[in-house]
Order: sequence, then structure tokens, then C-alpha cells
Amino acid sequence: NCDQREIPKESTNAFSHVKHTIAVVSGKGGVGKSLVTSMLAVLSRRKGYNVGILDADITGPSIPKIFGVHGQATGSDLGINPGRTANDIELMSVNLLLDQEESPVVWRGPVIAGAVKQFWTDVLWGDIDYMFIDMPPGTGDVPLTVFQSIPVDGIIIVTSPQDLVSMIVKKAYNMAKLMEIPVLGIVENMSYVVCPDCGKKIELYGKSQTAKIASELGLPLLGQIPIDPALAELCDAGEFEKMNSHDLDAAMADIEGKL
Ligand code: ADP
Ligand code: MG
Repeated sequence: NCDQREIPKESTNAFSHVKHTIAVVSGKGGVGKSLVTSMLAVLSRRKGYNVGILDADITGPSIPKIFGVHGQATGSDLGINPGRTANDIELMSVNLLLDQEESPVVWRGPVIAGAVKQFWTDVLWGDIDYMFIDMPPGTGDVPLTVFQSIPVDGIIIVTSPQDLVSMIVKKAYNMAKLMEIPVLGIVENMSYVVCPDCGKKIELYGKSQTAKIASELGLPLLGQIPIDPALAELCDAGEFEKMNSHDLDAAMADIEGKL
């Protein structure tokens, strides 16, 4: 049974009130899913919303590092306290629970799904306007079971121009359809580079097909993010909240209008 609509929003605990959940997916890893998740979270927070990030990428967790949040999550009989960024974005990730951030998680699918479900049910999130979920990459069993564990209102598909063969985007789109979750739109990451000398946009992989694929699928192209070394440096330094990119401003307005 793939119909995840059966999961009620109140399936969290008495202390959590989450208004909107948005899952960020990609057909494959390494396209910038975590970066886009983080960017949307920072932009929403700057607009004054209460924001949470649920790092459902159990085997490749990167959210705590991007925000420079370390150490153990604390807990009590009531539940698990989420981590907090400098600007009060709440987050939960397997990296906040394990001793060594370097040790790879070798859990199998059902255990991963169980952990993600607990992030939803047992974390004391408080009042959250927008919860962004950094999903496991791809369209296999693991993302599917995660979708069955959390009530997701909308999906954002992240792609890169290298995913020329539209199959990768279409797979993610089909997964959303299977789960009966609305796709809010597509974000293209690593879209172009800006020439440091002349300021011109250069498309490294030829003319991007993403706009065409998006319109074929009837989806908005929510935004295009250039390859920007400054963004990668902020991720590495755990200082992503200092980012001053406006590449997804329009995307955020679009999302707010739809939920
Ligand atoms: P995913 O979560 O899809 O695996 P990440 O968001 O972790 O991908 O991105 C992969 C790597 O590429 C990271 O090191 C990240 O900092 C870098 N990266 C992603 N998007 C950009 C970008 N637009 N400009 C520069 N570096 C980027
Ligand atoms: Mg990631």
C-alpha cells in the first residue's frame, strides 16, 4: 500500500505542531539535495518562519555539518530534543545521535525507515511552519519507506543539467505520483558558472534541458543555482546561514503560495 496520505499530521507528539512538510528529493546522489534543502530552510527562516530540517538521508547525513551543529542530541522520557542552528533552525539527523560523525551507517532499509519515523514521532519539534526533509537519494526502497513514515505535503525535485537524459527527473516524478504527493516544482542546481572576468553565465553542459522537461511534466522550474565555490565553502565551514544567494527567492514565494 503506497498511499502515504493515511499518515496523520498529528502522528508526532503532544509537543510538536508541524504545519507544512516539504520533501526534497533527487533521482541520484550528489546533485545538491542537501544544499537546496538548507537554502530553502535559511530563506524561510529569514522570512520569520519557524523552520525545521529533518535529515532523512541516514546513510549520507550532511545537514549538521552544513550548519555547524555538533554534539549529541539530548533526550528525556518526553522525547528527543532537536539540534538548533545559530539562527534557531531546528534540526535532527543521525549525526546528532551517533558518537562518531565519520562512522558510516550500515543499517538496512527497515532500520533506516524506523529511525526516520522516530525523527518524526519522537523529536520534540515545537511549533514549525515549514519542515524541510532531506530525503535519501534516488527512487528506491529507502526513499519509498521514508515517504510511508512521514506525512509529506509536497515534493521538490533537485536535478543538475547533467541529468540530460530526462529519465532521472521522470523517475523522481513517478515516485511522487505513486505516493500521491504533489510535486511543487523542480530546482536545477549547478546550472551554470559565472565568468569571473566578464560576469557572463556559462552553461558547462550545453543548453540545459531542464525547462523543457519541466514543462513536459507540467511542473514549474522553481529556480536555477549556479556552481558557486562560495556556497561550497560555507557548507564546509558549517556557516551556511551566512549565505547571501537569492537564487531560490522566487522558489520560496512559489512554495508559500501552494501550501
Ligand atoms: P546531495 O545532498 O544531493 O548528495 P550536496 O548538497 O551534498 O548533494 O552537494 C554535493 C557537493 O557539492 C557538496 O560538497 C556541496 O557543497 C557541493 N555543491 C552543491 N551544490 C553546489 C553549488 N551550486 N555550487 C558549489 N558547490 C555545490
Ligand atoms: Mg545530501
